[in-house]
Amino acid sequence: MSEPAGEHERTMAFAEIAFGQIKALHQPATPRNYEVWYTYATGYNPSLNQTINETLAKNGTLADADLERVYATYISATRFTDKIDNVGTRVMDEINQVMAMMDAAVGSASSYTESLNTVSNKLGNAKDREGLRAIVESLAATANEMKQNNHALEERLNASKEEINQLQENLEVVRSESLTDPLTSLSNRKHFDESLAQAIAESAERSEPLSLVMTDIDHFKTFNDTWGHLTGDQVLRLVAMSMKQNVKGQDIAARYGGEEFAVILPNTVLRSALTVADHIRRAVMSKELMKRSTGQNLGRVTISLGVATARKGDTVQSLIARADACLYAAKRNGRNRVICETDPEFANAPEAKVA
Ligand code: GH3
Ligand code: MG
Ligand code: MG
Repeated sequence: MSEPAGEHERTMAFAEIAFGQIKALHQPATPRNYEVWYTYATGYNPSLNQTINETLAKNGTLADADLERVYATYISATRFTDKIDNVGTRVMDEINQVMAMMDAAVGSASSYTESLNTVSNKLGNAKDREGLRAIVESLAATANEMKQNNHALEERLNASKEEINQLQENLEVVRSESLTDPLTSLSNRKHFDESLAQAIAESAERSEPLSLVMTDIDHFKTFNDTWGHLTGDQVLRLVAMSMKQNVKGQDIAARYGGEEFAVILPNTVLRSALTVADHIRRAVMSKELMKRSTGQNLGRVTISLGVATARKGDTVQSLIARADACLYAAKRNGRNRVICETDPEFANAPEAKVA
């Protein structure tokens, strides 16, 4: 068969194109970037190719944030859909098999009723002991057959139950993967958007306060340019860890975008939210960074944070916009700080004007 050799050459050609693109654009040769370019080379996903071509035409290159967006939109999203479809097909198979067994069981139950009727007629006509004995034996045989059928059905149903439980667990894993950012293990943007909408609705319904913290790493571009993206990714994990360590209960810490993060704080007043935000800020700046491969000291990174509290009639967009305006006031006022709308620095910032 010549097929495997053909497949080898074809896939090697895709791999070479993928590497060629990574080299030409000086991108990190991470599995994610390789997968994006490999998929591009195959042309199997026309929307992915179109998006990449448009971005290349516009910007001449593909930034890390573009690659992440392409990956999230066209690759990881499809992967989840495939996994869910697969579970769906297995559930349908399972149901079809059980239905077939049920049909068979119903068939054997009606033939059992039929033979019972026949026996009952025969009983009426039985004249002697021998006659009666034959009838009772045939009754016992039919009952035994019925018992065996029921046993087989019960076993099949138990097996099905186990299979369906297993599938349910798989679905739960897929669901939680689909809501998690793989790099930091924080909630991803999709989960953040859904959770914020729900938190706003609940805060209005229960008349409880709700605060939102938005944060962005300071001078991260310089950090990446100096130490490389892979080390930059380690910093993202460090910020994520600092966030996780300072939130609890129903709070939701999320990766909002490339190097932007957010924390939803249900039932939390502005003052407490400012405290949480400041704890996160201090946790990040307290850590001295070390390049793992060389042991080199990379200094420290800082973050800026904006905090807003929900007002009557707030939507996801309006609340994010207000927290974001505070974040940019923090940037403008020197970075490595937490700003809220009542701070004088907020009023001084030019982009503080929010509708
Ligand atoms: P500022 O203090 O004003 O925020 O300065 P900055 O350099 O951090 O500016 P900005 O927030 O616009 O920087 C975005 C940079 O963050 C671009 C890119 O180098 C980096 N970045 C964005 N997403 C990622 C990512 O997923 N991984 C890595 N390693 N770097 C990222
Ligand atoms: Mg940014
Ligand atoms: Mg930044």
